[in-house]
Amino acid sequence: MLATAGRMTITRFAPSPTGRLHVGNIRTALHNWMLAQKLGGKFLLRIDDTDPERSKEEYVEAIRADLAWLGMHPDGEERQSLRLERYDAAFDVLKEAGRVYPAYETAQELELKRKVLLGRGLPPIYDRGALDLSDEERAAKEAEGIQPHWRFKLDHDEAIAWEDGVRGASKFDPKLLSDPVIRRADGSWLYMLPSAVDDVEMGVTHVLRGEDHVSNTAVQIQMFTALYAAGFGAASDAQKTHPEFAHEALLVGTEGKLSKRLGSLGCDALRDKHIEPEALVAMLARLGTSLPVEPIADSAKLLETFDLSTFGRAPAKFDDAELERVNTAIVHAFDYADVSDRLPTGMDEAGWHAVRPNVANMGEVAEWWRLVTGPIEQLEFSDEDKAFLAQAAEALTWGDDPWGALTSALKESTGRKGKALFLPLRQALTGMNHGPDMGELLPLIGEEEARKRLQCSGQ
Ligand code: GLU
Repeated sequence: MLATAGRMTITRFAPSPTGRLHVGNIRTALHNWMLAQKLGGKFLLRIDDTDPERSKEEYVEAIRADLAWLGMHPDGEERQSLRLERYDAAFDVLKEAGRVYPAYETAQELELKRKVLLGRGLPPIYDRGALDLSDEERAAKEAEGIQPHWRFKLDHDEAIAWEDGVRGASKFDPKLLSDPVIRRADGSWLYMLPSAVDDVEMGVTHVLRGEDHVSNTAVQIQMFTALYAAGFGAASDAQKTHPEFAHEALLVGTEGKLSKRLGSLGCDALRDKHIEPEALVAMLARLGTSLPVEPIADSAKLLETFDLSTFGRAPAKFDDAELERVNTAIVHAFDYADVSDRLPTGMDEAGWHAVRPNVANMGEVAEWWRLVTGPIEQLEFSDEDKAFLAQAAEALTWGDDPWGALTSALKESTGRKGKALFLPLRQALTGMNHGPDMGELLPLIGEEEARKRLQCSGQ
């Protein structure tokens, strides 16, 4: 029985608004959104903006807009900068309980300690030097004007273990972890405690994030326990449990690591490349799982197979070419109604159907549609072809199937067939050697324009 069983699922996506979302964190957002959908719960957007210097309102807006573009609508939004007094309250109870302590080392001193340990081949774990200070020594530091930063005191006797939704049974020896700094000397917060406080107070049941957070989870599990023990948080005992945790393998580029490019590849760049949000969602939903990436535009369909047990531990490879393939397949499955508001003026359902198989993405639609509206490129023809095209202009009739009628008539009258019959006609009518089905295109070009194009080429 899972600890959070019986509670409404609440997941959260918690970006820091210090930049734009990239495919890596979009993937985390998506999986949290899917998990909430799948379990009939809620998906929260939590803006981790405790760093006032680096957090920017424009990024908050961009995050909201990106999620909306991708079809992920949060059921609520929270902001850490509006909850500072909650972190103060948690801090106070933890301090009272002896679970946070002041430390006075400078960054240089800490770095030196690290180097010494590493030099001896030991893990660079904080030595808890600050705990050895007497009250007088602390008072002396403060008299010198040195303000402390604050660390969370891990309980070395409390083994840390959890059943990870992706990684399975996971455990950490707390002695092998440094007591994390949770608050800077200026009173500002580091990520660790506010996140745990929020997860408690927002009733988060599932934390699904990248595996770079595994050791944070170990620390935060002790924070949840310490907070509950100190009387902070949930009203009922049943709720006094930490969320389920799942850590997904990181996203890497085809070259095998999270490249700079991938780390900054976001919605704007993808939109510029005419990637549909459905394509990105379809790909990210399954990347790194045992399920195949398929061009599934309907997120309800993707949800049917969404299951953390399909997530693998190997890094998930993000391949642009694969995204483009998925995108093309999704575009090819769009009905007219799906795209009607994005088509060039005058392009109707028949136009979309004619052009659709030829486009790799929506950015190519206008280009193909120009074959209908013109102007088209005027190609050079041999004298023989010119005569043939002049004849075609004469033979053109306008019924249900002008292309069928034209080609049959010309086949009959000229004896031409195959490429010799079709190619000069296509070239004269579109200025191109290949393109949409002529049977669909010719009625869209229209009789008068078609005749004109044939005549021009036949001269
Ligand atoms: N703001 C944190 C990050 O972006 C959130 C991590 C978490 O999901 O707890 O890494």
